[in-house]
Amino acid sequence: MKKIICLGIVTFIILMTSVSALAVVLDPDAYDECGYFPGTPKIYVEYYINPTFATSYSSVASKVQPAVTSWNNSNTAISLYSTSQLYGPNYVYFSYMSNSDPNYFGECHVYSYSIMGPEIDYSYVYMNVSNSKITAPSSSYANYPLSTMCHELGHAIGLGHTQLTSEKYISLMCTARDRNAIYFPVYTDIRHVHNLYY
Ligand SMILES: [Zn+2]
Repeated sequence: MKKIICLGIVTFIILMTSVSALAVVLDPDAYDECGYFPGTPKIYVEYYINPTFATSYSSVASKVQPAVTSWNNSNTAISLYSTSQLYGPNYVYFSYMSNSDPNYFGECHVYSYSIMGPEIDYSYVYMNVSNSKITAPSSSYANYPLSTMCHELGHAIGLGHTQLTSEKYISLMCTARDRNAIYFPVYTDIRHVHNLYY
């Protein structure tokens, strides 16, 4: 059913745009588990940090490494590794964006070259560097940058949102979570990744 929904989205995008020969966007922000990186038995995914992001917003970009490590430590088939040059496909690109909404922290775009399957070819993670809760958080928002980075990386590898309010205590992928309390993948998230990659 989820795959049918994804295919529906892709078809809709193709019908509604005249963009040719470009990867289509799968939107994991709206639909659960919209795709996955291909490969077996171990899936290796490169990641690359936009140099401007790394230098101009180093405090935010510094959250990439702990976020990657936390997902790699979840003991699933997917393994992210740093690269100084993208060879792709199968990569995650970390960068930044700007949105004045004080409750907008980041976003993720997931792309696929295929219109017939759920495979992800690459993903972009964008951190909202116009939000001081991300760039210079007070103690009240101390873990917001890492929680956001880790959450968006979850989208990048194919996870959608967990929708149940009750899941806010057990899922990084719940938008209602306490971002100071949950800033690494926890039980529900790891179970979802195992579902995608095993
Ligand atoms: Zn999200």
